[in-house]
Amino acid sequence: MSEAEDEAAGALPGRTCGTCHMCCKVFPIAEIGKEGYSNCVYLKPGEGCTNYDARPETCRNFFCDWRREPSLDESWKPCNAGFVLHDPAPYAMLASVDADRPDSWRQEPYYSQLKEWASDLAEGQHLAAVRVGSKTTLLIKDREVDIDG
Ligand code: SF4
Ligand code: SF4
Repeated sequence: MSEAEDEAAGALPGRTCGTCHMCCKVFPIAEIGKEGYSNCVYLKPGEGCTNYDARPETCRNFFCDWRREPSLDESWKPCNAGFVLHDPAPYAMLASVDADRPDSWRQEPYYSQLKEWASDLAEGQHLAAVRVGSKTTLLIKDREVDIDG
C-alpha cells in the first residue's frame, strides 16, 4: 500500500514500517503456511517483502499499535522495542515478543508502562498479556500469570 492508502486504513501520517519487519517475523501467517517466530520466506531483511503485491490479506490488514497510536513514540516501534504491540481478541493489549530478545519487554521504559496499561485495562475487565513463543503471560495488576498458548 502507498502511504496514502495506509493512512486511509488507519495508520498515522509519517509512521511507516521502514526496515522494521518485526510482524513478518513474530506472527504466523496461515495463508502462506508461515509459522511464528521466524522470518517469512518472502522477507528480504533490510528491504522488505519480496511478495508485496501478492501478500496475504493478513499482512495487508495488519498495522501494529505503533503505526496507529500517536502516544507511542519511536522507542515503541517494534524493531526498537523488541516486541509488537497489538490487540487481537481476546486481548485488549498483547505484546508479541521477538524470541531472539525475549526479555525486551522487561526493560524500561517498557515494563513499567506495560504494567500500568495492564492495570488500567484490568479495571475494565480487559485482558493484557505478553507472548514469547508458546508462553503467554497475563499481566493482572501486580501479578503475572503464565498460561499455555
Ligand atoms: S511491526 Fe509495525 S512497524 Fe513493524 S513492520 Fe509490522 S506494522 Fe510495520
Ligand atoms: S508475505 Fe510479505 S508482508 Fe507478509 S509476512 Fe511475508 S514478508 Fe511480511
